[in-house]
Amino acid sequence: MSFDLPYRIGHGFDLHRLEQGYDLIVGGCKLEHDKGCVAHSDGDVVLHSVTDAILGALGMDDIGQLFPDNDPKWKGADSVIFVEEAVKRMQQVGYEVGNMDITVILQRPKLSPHKQAMKEKIAKLLQCDLSRVNIKGKTHEKVDAIGEGRAIGCHVVTLLIKK
Ligand SMILES: [Zn+2]
Repeated sequence: MSFDLPYRIGHGFDLHRLEQGYDLIVGGCKLEHDKGCVAHSDGDVVLHSVTDAILGALGMDDIGQLFPDNDPKWKGADSVIFVEEAVKRMQQVGYEVGNMDITVILQRPKLSPHKQAMKEKIAKLLQCDLSRVNIKGKTHEKVDAIGEGRAIGCHVVTLLIKK
């Protein structure tokens, strides 16, 4: 595989079911809520989508291929390790994050009080300036699984720039 393009764009999407008895970890932050993500790892939809956006931009195997959810090694894993691996692979082929736009879709709780902390965590993981990371929160207008509070989703678009 050759990595000579000056720019590469990637998209990541993830969704997790929300149920009682689990923690709600979003963008590396624990949110107070009566439900949390049902997942093999810590179920952080934001960090999973970030990982897939980077790997997708590079045309590499996705998060599910790199970290299979039937592998006991990743049970309850801190999703930070998935982003770190994607960043390592990105750097190995000479790219950095140009910018990243993250859209989190959840009905409750409100994302706004946590946005800044999430941004800081993600920028640190990506080893880039804070100004290159954007996070938006949206509800799902009370319809479908996300709107009914049974799931949380996230979309990420990122541009990688050849160093
Ligand atoms: Zn996930």
